[in-house]
Amino acid sequence: MDDNDLAVRVTGLQKRYGDKHAVDGLDLTVARGEVVAVLGPNGAGKTTTIEILEGYRHRDGGDVRVLGVDPRTAGRDWRARVGIVLQGTNDLAEATVSELVRHFARYYPDPRDPDEVIDAVGLREKARSRTRQLSGGQRRRLDVALGIVGRPELLFLDEPTTGFDPEARHAFWDLITGLRDGGTTILLTTHYLEEAEHLADRVAVVRSGRVVAVDTPADLGGRSARQAVVRWTESGVRCEERTDAPTAMVTALASRLTGATGEVPGLQVLRPTLEDVYLGLIADDDAAAAATPAPALAMGAAR
Ligand code: ATP
Repeated sequence: MDDNDLAVRVTGLQKRYGDKHAVDGLDLTVARGEVVAVLGPNGAGKTTTIEILEGYRHRDGGDVRVLGVDPRTAGRDWRARVGIVLQGTNDLAEATVSELVRHFARYYPDPRDPDEVIDAVGLREKARSRTRQLSGGQRRRLDVALGIVGRPELLFLDEPTTGFDPEARHAFWDLITGLRDGGTTILLTTHYLEEAEHLADRVAVVRSGRVVAVDTPADLGGRSARQAVVRWTESGVRCEERTDAPTAMVTALASRLTGATGEVPGLQVLRPTLEDVYLGLIADDDAAAAATPAPALAMGAAR
């Protein structure tokens, strides 16, 4: 892909803290208009990488281009093109939501309308509240508002929905989908597999400071090519078979086994979930294995 088509190009990124290799040869590209989710266990190097791309942290090695510019030497023009959602800044706690969004809008050459932004993040009813009075999830939405008010070409979101209730998370997903449809490129980190599956065009799995797999959520780790498992009950015995053609198998079972109910007894068709594939990809990582409970089933229920 031509560099002009890329919003982010990272090659061989290195970052050490003392003896610790927090980022250790990380490669990643994000095409313009794409949503890429970075997944990885605690301490894998996700935030460090994002902060280097945002220009907030120095790197020890490797090449980084964000909107064609090295963040290390980028100026104000570049910063106005990039949206950054900081983790819970608590400055200006006495300002109201409306005041804060308006204040940030003034930093940008072509900002969005502050009231529209407040609406978009679902804070209209809190527009006149002081930021210190917001709940954690509302505060996070305000962070997002501040990240998008400058109409960024590229938006960085570091664990944007941590602490959100399910309803707020779904509202946030709609917001991100709207931004994507409007042409914004988005690079986000998340611990929620469902969020990555819902939002991302591609998922990058980071383990021990490098990308170990990158693909669409459907194809990550050969997911779509993996065999399905069909389970059913026959003569009181639980049966299980792996197959590339689950539909044909279920059809055959149906013609053989359905009784008065019209159902194959105990029928299940199981395919690996994104979580199953993800846990497999990070399983070699000792820290990850310690931090992440083993899945109860190697395969999750089909969706
Ligand atoms: P999480 O999912 O927990 O947010 P992460 O993938 O974002 O984790 P990073 O925050 O990038 O991970 O941290 C990567 C490694 O670097 C960790 O081992 C962490 O302890 C270490 N680290 C991060 N920041 C610093 C720092 N300022 N000084 C020393 N070590 C650091």
